Order: sequence, then structure tokens, then C-alpha cells
Amino acid sequence: MSDDAGVTAAVAGTPDQAVPDEQRWDAVVVGAGLGGLVAARDLARAGLRVLVLDGRDAPGGAVRSHEVAGLRLDAGAESFATRGGAVAALVGELGMADDLCTPAPRGSWVHLVTGDGPLPATGLLGIPTDPGAADVRRTLGALGSWRARLDGLLPARVGADATTLGALVRSRMGARVLDRLVRPLVGGVHAADPDQLAVDVVAPGLRAALAQHGTLGKAVGALRAAAPAGSAVQGLSGGVWRLVDALVADVRAHGGEVRVRSAVTGLAVDDDRSGAGAAVGAGVDSVRGFVVRTANEDVHTDRVLLATPAAVPLVAELTGADPGTMRTDDGTPVTLVTLVLDGVTALDAAPRGTGVLVAPDVTDVTAKALTHATAKWEWLAAAAGPGRHVLRLSFGRAEDDAAALPAGDDLVRLALADAAVLLGVPLPAERLVGHDVVRWTQALPRPSASHRDAVAAVRDAVARVPGLALTGAWVSGNGLASVVPQARSAAAELLTALAPRG
Ligand SMILES: Cc1cc2nc3c(=O)[nH]c(=O)nc-3n(C[C@H](O)[C@H](O)[C@H](O)COP(=O)(O)OP(=O)(O)OC[C@H]3O[C@@H](n4cnc5c(N)ncnc54)[C@H](O)[C@@H]3O)c2cc1C
Repeated sequence: MSDDAGVTAAVAGTPDQAVPDEQRWDAVVVGAGLGGLVAARDLARAGLRVLVLDGRDAPGGAVRSHEVAGLRLDAGAESFATRGGAVAALVGELGMADDLCTPAPRGSWVHLVTGDGPLPATGLLGIPTDPGAADVRRTLGALGSWRARLDGLLPARVGADATTLGALVRSRMGARVLDRLVRPLVGGVHAADPDQLAVDVVAPGLRAALAQHGTLGKAVGALRAAAPAGSAVQGLSGGVWRLVDALVADVRAHGGEVRVRSAVTGLAVDDDRSGAGAAVGAGVDSVRGFVVRTANEDVHTDRVLLATPAAVPLVAELTGADPGTMRTDDGTPVTLVTLVLDGVTALDAAPRGTGVLVAPDVTDVTAKALTHATAKWEWLAAAAGPGRHVLRLSFGRAEDDAAALPAGDDLVRLALADAAVLLGVPLPAERLVGHDVVRWTQALPRPSASHRDAVAAVRDAVARVPGLALTGAWVSGNGLASVVPQARSAAAELLTALAPRG
């Protein structure tokens, strides 16, 4: 335990002398994804001895790197929304502000049954600020653009009570904006259908802005204007995965530890400290600390931060709450295929800008999105060198059967064929100099209404237990711009929640 006065004052109870020091921590974080690591860093910097436990063989969760054809690349998240400024602020604190970068301003495309078209240069989740803009008209067609522009004439109350993103867009701008712009984009970002997504989670503030400005286009414009100037997304030169190394190093520098291959299997009230039989559900004030179990050890602590939805059964078990009310969304499994190609000169011109999103009803490709990573990130083009290109294709829609996707070389062949269609460029197999396949499960929980209800039930249960808190995308919404600020609030909450009890 730290001798920092403020921190010591916040710790409840008296350490049990029977527990060896190495098994006693001021805080234990379950899950070393970005949420867990960001919170752990704040707790450690506040003076707590923090232990982070993760079941995998490396920290970072959905933010991690892999090496393909000698290039170190992001294997999961590769950028973040600038909204709110929280990620850039964290990057600055970690001493990497000079490495913040923006994607090349080449725009991106959507692949539709009716052909390819540009995505709006300015918009939010595919919703255009100006439905009459030339790029939007090209993708929507005259009829779709005309319907979208009705947004400017409809009373503000239209769509005001829509709870899903799909319902809001359909009611204000019509089915074509939904099908040709929003659905492909949301499928790529959230691996979900807009009709399943709670608008307030995926586009916080949008409904309030609609009420204020009267049209959806203006509401989107207002949210964009409120974001930091410039690109809506940023990256980190060298890769977003560098955040993980920096966070782990900072946790360790402040006396904490990050242990991998340490899946948490149990969470119990520390009877020695709380009094035998302390009933969490009934008399939470008697709870003084927890025992956190892995296959290898039991650790003791006063604070537990649950940074993965995999911890939900532990909450149910600890609190006696009904697990049936806590069924959070597992998200759609996503498979990423990274291809590195040499000497395909047609790719030098970035034929589809930074990438292509795919409408769900097309039949000529299986992928749902392609990122032309070397066209998107200057640092990566420089690292790859002239004539070498990195393409990243993602597979896996909410309605797909993950088992139906081919495996091994067949999947790589499929990705190469899809890339050729999406980029409109022949991609001979002999030009492929490296590839890798990464499968993600439970990494993109869909923020549906039922997911939100389940998270609310978990929150209610946790709120009754002093020293227990939640963080991660399953709570905050997907994406680093949502995860980082919520993780910091969760850490602050844990630091202040345990006031000395009489
Ligand atoms: C392919 C992909 C691409 C993405 N691209 C972007 C992007 O470009 N920009 C963006 O902002 N966001 C992106 N995201 C989303 C973003 O990466 C996530 O929202 C964010 O990283 C989630 O962080 P987290 O800490 O909540 O969870 P996770 O990263 O899922 O971490 C949870 C951790 O908990 C661990 N864990 C699970 N069970 C246990 C247990 N029992 N005991 C101990 N540990 C356990 C897991 O091993 C994991 O490491 C992407 C996601 C994916 C999957």
C-alpha cells in the first residue's frame, strides 16, 4: 500500500496480516484491454499498488500488434475518433503527442450493388451533413438525394423519439441514406446493423442536437463542429498498439504489475476482513475486501475493477443477482486478413482512397470492409517503402455464420479476390509477400437496447458493493474515444468510493 496520504485515507479496513504482502494489492483490475490498462495507470499513478490480470498471452485486448512481411502492424484497432479529445490527451500524457497523425485526406468509398460511390467527406457514421453535396448525390442517386434533402423540410419532431440509429436515419433522410451510407459504415465499425444499435450510445448527443438544430444534417454538422478541428479520426505513428506498451510501462513504473496468462476464475468477499458470511446483497457495508482467484493464486484487495464482460458471471455470483438479467452482448466475431503486396503499381494511386465499406446486400464480395492501410497512413507507407502495399480486409457481419468462412489459404485467396474487386485492380497471387489472419471474438459488443439493459443490471448490482467498479467497451460503447474517458472515470470513482467507514 502506498504511503500517499490521500490514498491511504481512502482505503477501507485494515490489512489482514495473515495474507503475505505479495498476495495483497490495493486494487486488482480484471482484463488488460485498453480500458483496464488506462484505469490501472490512473490508479497506480494515484499511489495504489495495482495488479492487472489478463487471460491472454499479451496485454492490450483488441489493441495489439502483429508482424506481417517484416512490418509491425496493428492487429486490432488502428485509429480512434478525435471526439472528446480524451485519447489524444492520454497520448500526450504518455509522451507521444508528436506521434499523433491523421489519415491521408483521400476519402473512402462504399461498394454497392449499384456500383461504387464515395462516402460523404463530412458526416457521422455515414450520415451526411449535406445530402445535396456532389459526393453524396453520386452515391445516393437523384431520388435518394432528393429524399435525403427532405430532412431540411421535416419538422424536428420527426425521428425525435427514434431509439435506434436505423430508425432515426430512415425517418429523417430515407432508406437510401441508411442502406447505402450508414449500414455499410456501421457494419464495418460496429459489426452490427443500425436497426440494432441504440442511437444514444453510438452517436451520443445526436438526438439532442436534432432537437436543437431541427434537421439531422445540421445536427451532424454541429457534432462535427464541436469535435476538435481537422480529421474525425487520428492514429499513432508506428501503430495504435504502442499505447499498450506505454500504459504497461507506466503501470509498472508506478509499482503496479500486469500479469498475462492469468484468467480470473473467481471473485469472492474476503471473509477474513468482512466477517464470515457477509452477505453482499443484504448488508454490503460489511464488505471489506475481496479475494480474486486465478488458476494459480488467490490475491486479496479492497478494490476490484472489472474490465471485461467475461466478468459478468463473477458479479452475479458475488452479489447473488439474477444472471438472466445480465446477458451482455458477445458481439459479432470479426476476422481480419492482412495482405502485403509488392509491385502492384495500380495501387500506388490509391484507387479507392483510404478504403472501401461494403453494403450487406452485395454478392460479389464476402468482406465487409477493406482498409488500404498504406494509402491511409503516411508513416506506414514510409515504413513499407515504395511499391509495397498493406491491405486489411475484415469479415463478419451480424447475420453471418462465422463457421461458413473458409480457413487457412482459402481465406487468404478469398481476401485477395475480394480486394481485387473492391479496389478495381488485378491482384496476382505472386505479388503477395506476406499475410496474416486474426480472429476476434467478444471484442465488439453491439450496443443494442438489450445490451444496455444488461449493463444497467450489472451496474445496479455493482453499485451495492463498495470497492467494485466496471470499465471497458462493454460499458462505455466501442472505440477508444468512448473507452478511455470512461476508464478514467471508473478509476476516479474507485479512488474516491472507499471512504473510511466507522
Ligand atoms: C478488429 C477490431 C478493430 C477495431 N478498430 C478500432 C479502431 O480502429 N478504432 C477504435 O477506436 N476502436 C476500434 N475497435 C474497438 C476497440 O478496439 C475496443 O472498443 C477497445 O479496444 C476495447 O477495449 P476493452 O478494454 O474494453 O476490451 P478488450 O480489448 O476486449 O479487453 C478485454 C480484456 O479482458 C481480458 N479477459 C477476458 N476475460 C478475462 C478473465 N476471465 N480474466 C482476465 N482477463 C480477461 C481479455 O483477454 C482482454 O485482453 C476495434 C475492435 C476490433 C475487434
